[in-house]
Amino acid sequence: MMKTPTAIVGLQWGDEGKGKIIDLLAHHYDATIRFNGGNNAGHTVKTSDHTLHFSLIPSSALHHQKILISQAVVINPQVLLAEIAMLKKLGIKVDLGIDPRCHVVLPYHQALDGASEASKGKAKTGSLGLGIGFTYEDRTNRAGIRMEDLVQPKVLEKKLTDNWTLKKRRVTKAYQQSFKPVLKNTIKTYTNYGRKLKKYLLPVAEYTLENIEKERYLLESAQGFYLDFVFGSYPYTVAYHTLASSALPAIGWPPMKLKVIGIAKAYTTRVGNGPFPSELDNKVGQYLRDQGHEYGTVSKRPRRCGWFDLPMVSKACQINGVDTLVLTKLDVLTGLETIKVKTEEGYQEFNGWQEDISQIKQWSKLPVACRKYVLYLERELQTPIKYISVGPDRKQTIKKVRHAQ
Ligand code: GDP
Ligand code: MG
Repeated sequence: MMKTPTAIVGLQWGDEGKGKIIDLLAHHYDATIRFNGGNNAGHTVKTSDHTLHFSLIPSSALHHQKILISQAVVINPQVLLAEIAMLKKLGIKVDLGIDPRCHVVLPYHQALDGASEASKGKAKTGSLGLGIGFTYEDRTNRAGIRMEDLVQPKVLEKKLTDNWTLKKRRVTKAYQQSFKPVLKNTIKTYTNYGRKLKKYLLPVAEYTLENIEKERYLLESAQGFYLDFVFGSYPYTVAYHTLASSALPAIGWPPMKLKVIGIAKAYTTRVGNGPFPSELDNKVGQYLRDQGHEYGTVSKRPRRCGWFDLPMVSKACQINGVDTLVLTKLDVLTGLETIKVKTEEGYQEFNGWQEDISQIKQWSKLPVACRKYVLYLERELQTPIKYISVGPDRKQTIKKVRHAQ
């Protein structure tokens, strides 16, 4: 009998704590498949021994199980090789499979990204300059270089040479910025990357379909639902889908049922520009930023902070088909006198709690005010909250009892 694959998605603007939850749940699965994004993602996994940051490698890597990267992920080989090296240094088996159809992020994508942001002035989308959006542009426009090209030196050289002049012209003429990459060096460096990554190539679509009867798959989405390039706050989004159902074409699977676990932070954060209805541009927002260490994993930029936005997460649950929820970073709200939740009508107010909840292991031991807040969210979202996270460590997780008060 086929085991229903489980997708883990973020329901806000990312950094909901997907990395922690994937690491927490990974032991129920045989393999994790990262299905979108690039090294613009940053997932943190904290155990008693390690704090690790992953951008491309699935966050289950510490479990020594199969980790897969599907075709819709774009790969910066330098970053991927650094993550592989980090795992090897820790003595972790790197049983990695990368779909040969994955596109490669190239120096000219980064140059275009930087040049385009520089030319936008105030209307910046908040891109990190990593070239991810431009890699997706080439992918869609059939001008990209895929992992299967990277491992064939002759093909790689030809494609890079063919693309180079046009990319350079776009940066220097259209955007009027300087273009630093050098073709000869890029050919050499990327040929070398290809040599090192060749052994990991695996047609992930075909492999997983062949094994789906016997292997249980966990699917990892990067970013959050509101960064989805269609349903998110366009154009302040990433350049691809982040919603759960997009995992199917992103891996190469036919229509099938997925179990969907939605991760939501107990408040809201966002990196970069764009609308943010429940934003707290004040002392409370700063309190959340400090307590929650809300500074980007990749960018180190301070994240914008605000109250939990009910209509926003509610819609995310609907479009993603969320079956169960995980509420993270509840500990960050400790110490506030009043906690608010954005509703359709305005704000709903709750009493805060002052007790440290970060070491609590049982639902019934949480302060009454804290439970009231969680139960309100669960009721309004009409979706069961299965886990509550009260700290970055694996162990700081509470399994919520169903129907408990
Ligand atoms: P992701 O992008 O969704 O994987 O999330 P990130 O890893 O980028 O950001 C979440 C941050 O919060 C990381 O630094 C985690 O270690 C940390 N974190 C996760 N869950 C909790 C929690 O329940 N409480 C606290 N205080 N920190 C958490
Ligand atoms: Mg993150």
